[in-house]
Amino acid sequence: MDWLTRHAARLAGAMAAASMVLAAAPPAAAQSAIRDTEIESIIHEWSAPVFTGMGLEPSEVEILLINDADLNAFATRGRIMGINTGLILRTRNPNELLGVIAHEAGHIRNRHTLRDGAQDAGMQPMLMTMALGALAIAAGAPDAGAVLLGNSQYFGTLSALRYMTHQEGEADNTGARALEAAGESGRGLVSFFENFRSQEVFSDARRYPYFRSHPLSSDRIENLRRFVAEQPSYGRRDSPERLAQHALILAKIHAFMDHPRETFRAYPESDVSLPGRYARAIAWYRDGQTDRALAAVDVLLAEQPENPYFWELKGQILFEEGRPQEAIGAHQRSVEIKPDAPLLRINLAHALIETRDAAQLDAAVDQLKRATAMEKDNTLAWRLLGQAYASQGKEGEARLASAEMYFAVGAEQQATQFALRARDMLDRGSADWTRAMDIVFASGATQDDVDDLDRRNENRRPTIIPAGG
Ligand SMILES: [Zn+2]
Repeated sequence: MDWLTRHAARLAGAMAAASMVLAAAPPAAAQSAIRDTEIESIIHEWSAPVFTGMGLEPSEVEILLINDADLNAFATRGRIMGINTGLILRTRNPNELLGVIAHEAGHIRNRHTLRDGAQDAGMQPMLMTMALGALAIAAGAPDAGAVLLGNSQYFGTLSALRYMTHQEGEADNTGARALEAAGESGRGLVSFFENFRSQEVFSDARRYPYFRSHPLSSDRIENLRRFVAEQPSYGRRDSPERLAQHALILAKIHAFMDHPRETFRAYPESDVSLPGRYARAIAWYRDGQTDRALAAVDVLLAEQPENPYFWELKGQILFEEGRPQEAIGAHQRSVEIKPDAPLLRINLAHALIETRDAAQLDAAVDQLKRATAMEKDNTLAWRLLGQAYASQGKEGEARLASAEMYFAVGAEQQATQFALRARDMLDRGSADWTRAMDIVFASGATQDDVDDLDRRNENRRPTIIPAGG
């Protein structure tokens, strides 16, 4: 599990205005997006048919896991869905979690906009974009974050926004129909809301943020219940495999987010289930009991030698213990088993770089290039790539990687500066040189700007005056 930003490129342009939002929002605890290949893969696998069922392209919907114990989720018209870990932990079965995801996707499908009653609704889409831009930047790009503030206070703004009552009904309806189209029961969607029905009578201050932005009412729940109960898939139950995946997600979130003491209490050694043993292995690692953690992971690996996430955890433990050379083997296995996961390649590259062995740098660069090809806006991958190139003495390539990183988070000015420096160091006409120029132009500079800059540089350089002109 890692703390990174994702797909901030869609939020390009948010940079300039984002500091305004941060300044205006009341201070809140810093929140960040969490990246975890295992949890993301499971949620994607469950959700994809539901997204398809409502006419959304699954690969275009971005699900961000937000590290926040409060119950909340949100969706933007930019097709980003944020789900708090606190919401996931309060779902009682996979079908409830899928139900909430279907409802949020319903807001995306219907192009709903969160509104703040006190302000002009017209500025809200921009406000969301800015707030999320700030989130993305603060979450994983400290270099770019230096342009902004160091932490995310955006939820202060977000919590003032809400959907209108009729939009809730529409999102319920779209979500329920898509669940049915995917052959899933809508029961969880109803039971999740039912579970929090008492929230209806609470004042805003006592309500979970989710039920401030998504107002609940008995009418709404009743309408939804009537509809889903009539659907052919209503009686369908979660498969044992899915129940196991849900238990595993919960265990992993608890183990990574809670104090290890709490994890040991929630998953005592008498609990020999897979989630229980997985949770304890993670908690021992986070508690500094490395040998115990490694022994526990090795037992899991003996049972499931082809599980890429057990290898990932083993690599993470060794890496954090300052044993990058040993971590390489474990991360290598995770990449071999799941080659389409960029985060696993980034882990491997990070370990290769940390060995401080120049002979490992080519392999690190190779992994990072593959990772950035799969996830163009992964700021950590670009930062590590820049680091690897710099260690190799490839200054032009290193600056191009920095330009890519800033470009990915929408920091156009910084992207242009690094791209121009890269251009001066790269071979004219090479693929990297061309890419540097693409970034310059994509960031808003014109050919005239570049020519102008060249002329000024020219003047500073000693030039050869042709003789006899
Ligand atoms: Zn809603």
